[in-house]
Amino acid sequence: MVSHYRSWAEVNTENIRHNVEVIHNRVKKGIFAVVKADAYGHGAVEISKVLEKLPQIEYLCVATAEEGKELREAGIKKGILVLGGLLPEEKKYFTEYNLIPVISDYNQLKLVKNLPIRKIHLKFDTGMHRLGFPPEEVDNLLRKLDGIQVEGVMSHFPSADTDRQLTENQIKQFKGIVDRLKHLKPKYIHLQNSAGLMYNCDYCNAVRIGISIYGEKPSPQFNIPVKMVMGVKAKLITVKKLKKGERVSYNGTFQANRDMVVGVVAFGYADGLPRELSNRGYFKINGKKAPILGNITMDMTVVDLSEVGNVSPSQEVVVVGDGITFSQIASLSNTIPYEIMCRISKRVKRIPV
Ligand SMILES: *Cc1c(COP(=O)(O)O)cnc(C)c1O
Repeated sequence: MVSHYRSWAEVNTENIRHNVEVIHNRVKKGIFAVVKADAYGHGAVEISKVLEKLPQIEYLCVATAEEGKELREAGIKKGILVLGGLLPEEKKYFTEYNLIPVISDYNQLKLVKNLPIRKIHLKFDTGMHRLGFPPEEVDNLLRKLDGIQVEGVMSHFPSADTDRQLTENQIKQFKGIVDRLKHLKPKYIHLQNSAGLMYNCDYCNAVRIGISIYGEKPSPQFNIPVKMVMGVKAKLITVKKLKKGERVSYNGTFQANRDMVVGVVAFGYADGLPRELSNRGYFKINGKKAPILGNITMDMTVVDLSEVGNVSPSQEVVVVGDGITFSQIASLSNTIPYEIMCRISKRVKRIPV
């Protein structure tokens, strides 16, 4: 099936179901599944088709109206919440595709008043300082709602993975806000992201979960047994000998200190491999490590085949999987697994398995 692709990502939809189930078993709350940024690079349409059939999923969350449109055009019927709010130019999308906005300021609130769908989630800023009404605006805001249906009330954690004090303060502060909005009877109260699952929010009745649905732990202390969903693979283009003293790739940053056998893999930075992995990361071939030699190029990467045994042209190379995680690649390239996941590029075909 994958024979004519040079690189591809196998998306294990069974593991999506598994992850939703183990997360739900732990929190026992409705799940808002975050499928923004093409479902963290996993393919938003395919992933949403799986998610919308699961009874634990209450909503799908995207970042932009455009992302919501893509899901609707693919036939997704589930409620879609647009986390990034509503811009004036996007009003028609919200109507046409039945998208629900997260409202974070008075300008957006005014826009909603002209929409046929007057249903929103209200966001409060309890420490992220990105989107959200300041808590002291609650009373003023209540006077301006003007019959708009507040279906949800939410806030967001900036540092649930690193700052317990701040996170616990946010849970307290958000409770105060929720109490003052109680008479609006919001159906959903949601605060926790994946890292936030390690905290208890007893007055919340839903969680907004992204990365752990895709099987990565948001922090080392995360202890829900999720399984990796996406494995990334590429083909070996050619195998060749390198003589002692010869250099590899642009700028010759690797020089052979012995005669060796190397392979050229059809995966480069245009496929989403961080160039910072040059001379640092490795792939797996035949279950063995094949270290990256020299600078990663746009479409290809040279690897050391010394330890991998027999290989043939076109052989499958594992870029992510077989013990190589997005987190490992992220820490080698000084970033977070989220970024590595969502930069796996369009050239890498997503194949549901
Ligand atoms: C992306 C996002 C999430 C999901 O966060 P994870 O750490 O991936 O679980 C939740 N809430 C908001 C507002 C987000 O933007």
